[in-house]
Amino acid sequence: MAGKLYLVPTPIGNLGDISRRAAEVLESADFLAAEDTRVTVKLLNHLGLKKPMAAYHRHNCETAGPAILRRLEAGESCALVTDAGTPAISDPGEDLVALCAAAGVAVEAIPGPCALTVALSVSGLPTGRFTFEGFLPLNKKNRRARLEGLAEEERTMVFYEAPHKLRATLDDLAAVFGPERPLAVCRELTKLHEEVLRLTIGEAVEHYAAQEPRGEFVLVAGGRPAQAAAPDGDGALARAEQLRRDGLPLKAAAAQAAEEFGAKRRALYNELLRREEE
Ligand code: SAM
Repeated sequence: MAGKLYLVPTPIGNLGDISRRAAEVLESADFLAAEDTRVTVKLLNHLGLKKPMAAYHRHNCETAGPAILRRLEAGESCALVTDAGTPAISDPGEDLVALCAAAGVAVEAIPGPCALTVALSVSGLPTGRFTFEGFLPLNKKNRRARLEGLAEEERTMVFYEAPHKLRATLDDLAAVFGPERPLAVCRELTKLHEEVLRLTIGEAVEHYAAQEPRGEFVLVAGGRPAQAAAPDGDGALARAEQLRRDGLPLKAAAAQAAEEFGAKRRALYNELLRREEE
């Protein structure tokens, strides 16, 4: 019988955040797959464990992944850990999970620390609907293009960022979303120098112009404020609602009413969606 792959989240700073269940799975798994075995050894030492480990990181995943899969298929159990946080969330693991899923090998995720949820929950921004954007592209042109694709996004947006790229990213956020947009800069979460700045993007640009960004960051940006469906919003909205009652899909109803009334299609669509979700 095939073994199982366990996804084991590890602390993003505070070692006390390892859960009892995560520790039990680490102890009982036949072997660990670790992003950096030197980092994982520190956690194992903290837990008083010694385990056989296989390296699994972005530079070897093409060969290490199939090798781990073969061991799972032969009946071993494996606990996948990364340097910090939840495996497969902006770190190695995604491909291994897909490999196991395709091969019919069981995968079990243990809940635990993740910088995304810690930052979102502490941000003070709306959390009901959000989009996780992970790391933005390194290349300036691609980064701008990615952000421009989010210019109309109304949901809260969460980004991971490295300290040496923070200033450039804040400049781009200001250029695309405007300096007035609310932003939570979440730094060194769960660590000694944890800091959450709730300000505007413009204020964040100024803050980090005067101060070198240090540590690990998650940026949580407010979405674009919902706009009314003007011009001719009321008429267009009424028409779109009529088209919905006639059985047209949401997108088509918004597009047709927008064209008939010269209204903004996207704003109309968003307003229609908002009303239907109420
Ligand atoms: N899988 C991890 C998770 O569950 O959050 C994320 C791994 S990703 C390679 C590393 C990024 O997560 C960092 O660049 C930073 O943006 C964010 N991060 C990790 N730990 C953090 C912390 N303690 N405080 C703020 N951001 C953190």
